[in-house]
Amino acid sequence: MKYNPVEIIIKKRSGKKLTRDELAFFIRSYLKNEIPEYQMAALLMAIYFKNMHPDEIQTLTEVYINSGKTITFPEDMPTVDKHSTGGVGDKISIVLAPIVAACGAKIPMISGRGLGHTGGTLDKLESIPGFRTDYSYTAFKKMVDEVGFSIIGQSKELVPADKRIYALRDVTGTVESLPLITASIMSKKIAEGARNLVIDLKVGSGAFIKKMERAEKLAELLMQTGKNLGQNVAVVFSNMNSTLGNYVGNALEIMECVDFLKGREIKDIYTITKMLAAEMLLLTKIASSKTEADEMFNQVLKSGKALEYFRKFVATQGGNPAICDDTSLLPQSKYQIPITAKKKGWIKAVDSQKIGYALVDVGAGRRMIESQLNYAAGAYLPFKVGDFIEKGQEIGKVFCDDELLGKPVAEKIAESYSVTPSKAGFDEKYFQEMELIYGLENNLESD
Ligand code: URA
Repeated sequence: MKYNPVEIIIKKRSGKKLTRDELAFFIRSYLKNEIPEYQMAALLMAIYFKNMHPDEIQTLTEVYINSGKTITFPEDMPTVDKHSTGGVGDKISIVLAPIVAACGAKIPMISGRGLGHTGGTLDKLESIPGFRTDYSYTAFKKMVDEVGFSIIGQSKELVPADKRIYALRDVTGTVESLPLITASIMSKKIAEGARNLVIDLKVGSGAFIKKMERAEKLAELLMQTGKNLGQNVAVVFSNMNSTLGNYVGNALEIMECVDFLKGREIKDIYTITKMLAAEMLLLTKIASSKTEADEMFNQVLKSGKALEYFRKFVATQGGNPAICDDTSLLPQSKYQIPITAKKKGWIKAVDSQKIGYALVDVGAGRRMIESQLNYAAGAYLPFKVGDFIEKGQEIGKVFCDDELLGKPVAEKIAESYSVTPSKAGFDEKYFQEMELIYGLENNLESD
């Protein structure tokens, strides 16, 4: 062996910078099973506590990228992708991609499945009868070119280092390390081939980044690493203190996306999608100002052009495009169980993580990777932070195929809303949760 792994672990443990050669050796040897899980776990913990210099983060990202295949698109193609750090009811990619494609951008999106309390974009799309996400990268590139966007699943060939190391981080308490998060996100997004990237960084109780200060640090690292490796990155922070939109659940969220693309007003979805779309259109230089980007956004939405892009996307990936005209063709559940408010008052917090986990019990999410989903299951949750509710008032519904399973879920969801008897004492901003969304300047000029 070129190096002794324990010496590399000790070097990091004492806070020193690892060289490119040392990092590449460690990761490659781990992937070849020449370094055991416990030594990789020790290195991850040392990184967690001692941090990494931006140069080391860039090197780690490059080592991750080089562990597998990469996808490339022609230089002059206005490619842009979006990444979200995940939230309950987060269906933004499904409306954002057709809107931005209808404005002229090309969006190659490789997405994930849901595990734990958040749902995955792939699961939502696969609730459309016939829809497929298991395409080859050649077919993927063709669909991006011809349809304007495509959303498929990640194969084992793309950044295998992240796949294995992420699973280990998950069980060793090292997920929250900013250098490790940066290398994990950026390696996947660079390997996917888009020249531009917008990140929806969720902040709040339902997100894995709870505080704005840490979110800002992560944003800097993501933008810097992207810039050094040839990808323009912009970050939008969005509040993750409530669930997104009015529905949670795979087919229910597709229905909500179709309704939105048909012009239904859904305030939080509209605000976040418009903000992300503007960044995507600016990065690709399709729009030259935020005002112009917003006009384009509203135009493709109002004219129905975005819906037509969505319809073509569904049909191209094997799904039934008639769901765009009649959403009752999506899977439907047998029962709708009312959720009734426990107390009267203004909603001051929604425990979206608890809601996400409760809905796993009716099959809307997965307990294990192999779990079968019930695509029709989910909930209607129209009340948000700042809304007033009466004790006993119906504040939503659980959609399920088994009443006995659904009733306790409705109870758990009702318990996820905390209220305050008076609005007094709360900063007005606290109730206008969407004000937490703002863009960070895309600091791309050279140093
Ligand atoms: N999302 C990722 O892809 N990786 C992380 O490490 C955290 C969030």
